[in-house]
Amino acid sequence: MKVLVTGGAGYIGSVVTSQLVKAGDSVVVLDNLYQGHRAAVHPEAHFIEGDLADKGLLDRLMAQHQPEAIMHFASHTLVGESVEKPFLYLGDNVQNGLNLLQAAVDHGVQRFILSSTANLFDDPESMPISEKERIVPGSPYGESKFILERLLYWMDRIYGLRYAALRYFNACGAASPDLGEDHDPETHLIPLVLQVALGQREKIVIFGDDYGTSDGTCIRDYIHVLDLAQAHILALRALAQGSRTYNLGNGRGFSVKEVVETARQVTGHPIPAEIGPRRPGDPDILIAGSESIKRDLGWRPQYPDLVEIIDSAWQWHQKHPLGYSDK
Ligand code: UDP
Repeated sequence: MKVLVTGGAGYIGSVVTSQLVKAGDSVVVLDNLYQGHRAAVHPEAHFIEGDLADKGLLDRLMAQHQPEAIMHFASHTLVGESVEKPFLYLGDNVQNGLNLLQAAVDHGVQRFILSSTANLFDDPESMPISEKERIVPGSPYGESKFILERLLYWMDRIYGLRYAALRYFNACGAASPDLGEDHDPETHLIPLVLQVALGQREKIVIFGDDYGTSDGTCIRDYIHVLDLAQAHILALRALAQGSRTYNLGNGRGFSVKEVVETARQVTGHPIPAEIGPRRPGDPDILIAGSESIKRDLGWRPQYPDLVEIIDSAWQWHQKHPLGYSDK
């Protein structure tokens, strides 16, 4: 299949691009390289540097490449930033998604995969969190993804655009020692902990130990980026049978302290940790219920083990201590 991947130079987009190429699909990547890295894009993918705000570019790209499917990763993705700069999220994220949908409809694209988020569930009533859980976006970031999910619902009803909205919990790990996570600034727990092990940071600050969990630190569902990629590919192939929305996680939670302790085991580094204040907006526990995608598509996480997840990330960080900028 010919697939347009927006944000295909970013962390998850680049891994999905690489898996699509390996599966024999033909991939066009559109990325403005604001967060993404040119070196992360698989060499067999056709790369276009450009922005979703540029409607003319989108129109030309669609006419020239005529993708059969779109996977949409390009987005501002930071919860904290979205509270400080809501218009970047409720404005740009939404408008760029609309531009892409307009181009998709204008050019007859019938399949669309949206990278969505667990930030739709700020106040869950049950755990693990299934797709039946009520939507309470935790931030303008989560709201922007929810708006895109709703837009897709209408595009399906009106134009027959088949979509899958995939709500990730905590994406982590590296697809290989050469394809991993490189954010600037880095805000995610696992890469930050590994930067301590590399000697790039003095310590990790644990954001609060007074949560309602067994060790007092927040519990999250860490899912290997290769398992996420596999879910995208299965969902893409299944769209002919109709649109769908899935929550995607390991189904197991680990506390911040457990992540730090596991990273100590994997790296052999003492990784000094200190307790700091809570980070605003962090719920106690977020664990995905992924029964729907298991039942419908036979998806199973292949890398559910936290040691394996952190080890894959550690191999990437050791080989590329400065991320993609060392290339
Ligand atoms: N966290 C932490 N210290 C850090 C970064 C993150 O204690 O320096 C915690 C954070 O409060 C959350 C968990 O680690 O409970 C995972 O955070 P991350 O930012 O990686 O992902 P999020 O859950 O926000 O998507």
